[in-house]
This record gives sequence, C-alpha cells and structure tokens, in this order.
Amino acid sequence: MNNLDIKKELVKMLGQDKVLTNDLDLMYYSYDSSFLTKLQPVTPTAVVLPASTAEVQKVVRFAYEHNINIIPRGAGTGETGGCIAVEGGIVFDLSRWREIVEIDVNNMQVVVRPGVIHADLNDELAKYNMFFPPDPGSSKMCTIGGMVANNASGLRAVKYWTTEPYVLGLEVVTPTGDVIITGGQQARCIKNVSGLNLTKLMVGSEGVLGIITQIRLRCFPRPKARGIAMAVFDHLDDAPATVLEVYQAGVLPSGIEILDASAIKAVNDFKPDIKLPDAEAILLFEVDGNPPGVEYDGQVIKEVAERRARQVEWSTDKKRMAELWEGRSITAAAAARVRADGSRIFAGEDISVPISKVAEALRAIRALGDKYGIQVVNYGHIGDGNVHCAPVINPENPEEVEKVEKLVDEIHRLAIDMNGSTTGEHGVGVARRGYAVLEHGPAVEYMKKVKAAFDPKGIMNPGKLF
Ligand SMILES: Cc1cc2nc3c(=O)[nH]c(=O)nc-3n(C[C@H](O)[C@H](O)[C@H](O)COP(=O)(O)OP(=O)(O)OC[C@H]3O[C@@H](n4cnc5c(N)ncnc54)[C@H](O)[C@@H]3O)c2cc1C
Repeated sequence: MNNLDIKKELVKMLGQDKVLTNDLDLMYYSYDSSFLTKLQPVTPTAVVLPASTAEVQKVVRFAYEHNINIIPRGAGTGETGGCIAVEGGIVFDLSRWREIVEIDVNNMQVVVRPGVIHADLNDELAKYNMFFPPDPGSSKMCTIGGMVANNASGLRAVKYWTTEPYVLGLEVVTPTGDVIITGGQQARCIKNVSGLNLTKLMVGSEGVLGIITQIRLRCFPRPKARGIAMAVFDHLDDAPATVLEVYQAGVLPSGIEILDASAIKAVNDFKPDIKLPDAEAILLFEVDGNPPGVEYDGQVIKEVAERRARQVEWSTDKKRMAELWEGRSITAAAAARVRADGSRIFAGEDISVPISKVAEALRAIRALGDKYGIQVVNYGHIGDGNVHCAPVINPENPEEVEKVEKLVDEIHRLAIDMNGSTTGEHGVGVARRGYAVLEHGPAVEYMKKVKAAFDPKGIMNPGKLF
C-alpha cells in the first residue's frame, strides 16, 4: 500500500482530527531529545492521535494486515531516538490521552492512560497523601507510558528504585492487534506471583513488544519530612568512599548526588551567586521520612561524612535546603552554557557503573575529554552509580561532531569494561543498540526470540534495542 493510501485509510478509520499527514506536522515527529535525531531526523509516514484502546487496536490491526511499521510515542523526551520511525511507519502519539482512570486509595494504587504527565499524576496523588516515587528530571514533560516503556527513574532511585517495581499491571495492544492485560485480568492486589511475569517484560521494552494503553501503578504514602546534607571533598575518591560508609552506617538516603570539579565550575560560572565551594567533588544527600528518623539519619550522615570531607552542612530548614540543593538543580542548565558557541549534547550521557568505580569512571571520562579536546561536565546519581556526562560542542561544526561521536563510543565501552552499563536510565533506542552484543552476549538472541513471539512480522518499533 502506498503512503497516500495509508494516510487516506487512517483518516477513514479515526477521522481527520486524529491523523497528522502534512509535512510540517510530521517533521516535528522526526525528533526526540537525543543528539542522534538532530543529526539524522527521520519523518514518519503518518501520525495518529488515538484516545481509546479500540482506536489503537483498529490502527494496529490495519498495520499488521498491510505490514506497516508502528511506533509508540509519549512526549518525545527520550534521549535515544526510541520513538522515531527510523524505518518508516505510523507513529502513535499517546501524549494527549491523559486520563487518570481511578485513584484507588483503599488499595494504594492508581490506574492511568499512557499520556498522563508524571508531575500531574503526583499532583493529583498528593491530594490523597500518596505518591508515585520514581522521579525523572523530565517529570513535568514525560508521560507515564514513556516512563514504563523506558523503566525511567531519577535521583531518588537510591531509595525508591525505578518505575518497574511500581507497575502492577498493564493493558497492551500487541503488534498482532490483540489486547492483553498483564498482572491479572481483574487483579487489584499488590503481591502477585502467578504466571510468567509479562508486566516485568513489558517494562523497559522501549515500545518493541506492544503499545501500552493502560497502567496500574502502586503508590506509596508521601513522606512528611526531608533534610539535605552537603559534603565538600578535596579528593575525588573520598566521595564514593563516603557514600559506602553512609550505607554501612545503616542509612539509606532518598538521593545521593555528586558534582565533580567540572560541574562545580560550570555552576559557579553560570550563577556566581551560588558560590559552591571550589573542590574536587561535592556530595548532596537527601533524606526523607518521618521527622525524628530524618533528623537521626542526617546526624549519622554528618558524622560519617566529616571523617573525609573538608566541610559538611546538614539542614532541615526549607530555605537552606533549597540553597544547598540549588547547585544540583541547575547543573544541567549550567552544563549547557559552558561555551558561548556550543551546547550540551545528549549522547553518552547516562552510563552506569558500580558505586566503587564512580571516581575511576569520572577520571577516565575527564581523560577522554582531554584526548578529544572536548569539554565534559560530570555529575550524577552516585548513590546508585549512574553518571551523567555532558559533552559540550558546537553541533554545527562537523569536526567536533566526528570527535564527539568517538568520545561517546569510548564512554560507552568504558562503562561496559567497568562492569557497568551503557545506560542506567535513558535506555537503548537507536543510540546504543550497537552495544547490545558487547553488553549482553548470546542473551541478545533470546531477546530477539521474545520479540518475534510478540511481533512475528517485525513491524513493532523496528530498528531499536538490538
Ligand atoms: C531534560 C530531560 C531530563 C530527563 N531526565 C531523566 C531522568 O532523570 N530519568 C530518566 O529515566 N529519564 C530522563 N529523561 C529521559 C526521558 O524523559 C524518559 O526516558 C521518559 O521516560 C520518556 O518519556 P516520554 O513520554 O517522553 O517517551 P518518548 O520519548 O516519547 O518515548 C520513549 C520510548 O518509550 C516508548 N513508548 C512511549 N510511550 C509508549 C507506550 N504507551 N507504549 C509503548 N511504548 C511507549 C517509545 O516508543 C520510545 O521507545 C530526561 C529527558 C530530558 C529531556
């Protein structure tokens, strides 16, 4: 079937309002937030904006019958090209399907459609003193569907982990056009070990196994209190050592962030009023819970950190906490401004290494930056070893682009060599699929067999993951 006929059929099925076909609209869908799509944008054949499972199913069945690729998309905040129609096809934009179906307070869970924005969900849950703990930096933009598909997380993964343990069940339209419910057809329970765990399989599958149309999520009670500690180090190695000593002292903070010398400089240049202490590393600990527990944990962190740090401050005062945290909250923006003629690119930005190797990884990344003559700003979630490196280049300069691609390749390989992963949060998509065999070995063949079982014609988000 030619593209014109595909577009006509889609309009017949869903109506003109729910189908985008003109070039300008389609151009928007050739990008996500990755550097990769800036270099190689690919326009889809058409975009559909479904708002019911029946509409999704109708279009999927049509695509299956005519061998047309289908690509789910949330808000397009992904950093890997995951929602791009790299081999052509129909993009399903689910970002307008923003219904919170039910807040089930009695069972501490919530049922949502895929387009609900993360921050909006937590605003609603707050009315019932509940929250959905994973906390990506893109909270005000990304969809719950995108978070489930990417198993997203954030700086509080240290204590609350990723999206995966909160997903109790899913409704999925499979690439053959079936609708399945994972986690039990009528289940409202939290614990469930019945059957093969298809929910877990779907979480993090980056849209290659099906389109998630409904999500049942576990919620937690909202913590009442919070405290922040800042510790300043003259030696980089003392930072991860302190993290491990805090754990060994029996404290699990909700977040532990690191800014290395490059990030401290970037923040101070960007906003001199902040006056972060000049140092090799700064650690920020966040603790949450009930007030006496928070105070106790804060005192332990202070005592432990003082063994190695030059300076430690602990506060539960709202204003002071905001001041202590401000450096971290503007790091990404500061990284984007370290060069007047350049910008921060999202590539190699998300490696994960064992906590004990964070200092070694930061030093190695610094050395790689020097090797290629590219400035790299480093920060991240040291509590779980997820390092964010921000290379800064002039993306209009082909020589710099060529160099940064080599740099990013070395960063990815470094992560695997250090017993880590090319990605701790943002996923594989197109950007990291070249490392699949290096990272997973023969297991990749089994991943492909699982995909083929769901997607016999290979139409579901092709060109991703492997
Ligand atoms: C400023 C910024 C900060 C960020 N910070 C974080 C962070 O702290 N932690 C983190 O984990 N990520 C972060 N990200 C990356 C990104 O926001 C997350 O991966 C997010 O979960 C993607 O959601 P989305 O709705 O934008 O999905 P999209 O980018 O639209 O899609 C991402 C992937 O999910 C698939 N997908 C989307 N919806 C569905 C669905 N309903 N069914 C099946 N597959 C689907 C797509 O096919 C694609 O493969 C950040 C991004 C930006 C721009």
